[in-house]
Amino acid sequence: MEKKTKNVYIDSITIFLFFLVIGVILWKTQGHIFFLFNFLYIGIAGSVGELLFGILPRGKKIWGRKLTQILIGLYMLGVLGFLARENMQIEGFFIYLLAGIFSGPVLHFLIAKVGGTLLFGRAWCGWACWTAMVIDFLPWMKPRHGRLQYWGLLRYLHFFLSLALVLFLWSGFKITDLDKYSFRELNWSILIIGNMLYFTVAIILAAILKDNRAFCKYVCPIPVLMKIGSRFSIWKIEIEKDSCIECGLCEKNCPMNIKLLSYMKNNQRVLSTECIGCQQCVNICPENIIRYTKKIDTGFKEYLNFKNNA
Ligand code: SF4
Ligand code: SF4
Ligand code: SF4
Repeated sequence: MEKKTKNVYIDSITIFLFFLVIGVILWKTQGHIFFLFNFLYIGIAGSVGELLFGILPRGKKIWGRKLTQILIGLYMLGVLGFLARENMQIEGFFIYLLAGIFSGPVLHFLIAKVGGTLLFGRAWCGWACWTAMVIDFLPWMKPRHGRLQYWGLLRYLHFFLSLALVLFLWSGFKITDLDKYSFRELNWSILIIGNMLYFTVAIILAAILKDNRAFCKYVCPIPVLMKIGSRFSIWKIEIEKDSCIECGLCEKNCPMNIKLLSYMKNNQRVLSTECIGCQQCVNICPENIIRYTKKIDTGFKEYLNFKNNA
């Protein structure tokens, strides 16, 4: 079997096993079989998408990723969010963490946005986020411009405003004194309002800047957490330097404006914590020489890409 095809199967099985193990551990320690079904579903959605991505031809691979995005995005937002009324927004994470409730949003953040980043980097952003599930259907997947300098600071401001809002609710409205029903309803309201705001701002910003992922680059607060672990992630993008014809297609089509060729010329994998693991570069490369590799590499320079050198 060709090495690249073999890697596709290994990656697909690894993803499935990762979530299966988490599901079994939580089922046995928390005593709810829901955890097993929940993580089995996510593992199957992730591994099937990865498998499709690997076996589909160049240019069509992206449908493997989109399938995973839709399966996980609809489940997280529709079933866990709207039906089960779990607030998976960052405010929900802060609220549950303060309340010492280690389920729902806290588990989600610890697994997808903190612990999981050490293995898969920001693959959540590329493959599973429900906001991205929508904005990736907008027509500006290939950004028209480089990154706007300093706009990324907005995500840090957003992060601290979200935290401040929760602390305000916590001390001003004594959330802990609410009964279980009111506590859930409050969280559900924050989820609805938060998502309406996220989708509205994300779509407007994408349309103004002609860049689907503008919200991810500048406004969303989640990367503030995810960037920490993803710097050390084992799975990262790598280019086979000797076979590159320097056509530049990978950089031009990267939705996050990553300087792939700079990393390649420095004999490095893509170390940028802005990489969302979407593998659009893999999908587009005419030489089929970009892939996810699994290694431990830290301590090198992380290049950012601003307007002047895009
Ligand atoms: S940056 Fe935010 S909105 Fe964008 S994909 Fe990641 S979590 Fe979703
Ligand atoms: S798309 Fe492939 S061949 Fe072209 S520059 Fe990127 S890595 Fe090199
Ligand atoms: S470097 Fe590749 S995987 Fe990373 S964000 Fe850019 S296109 Fe996606």
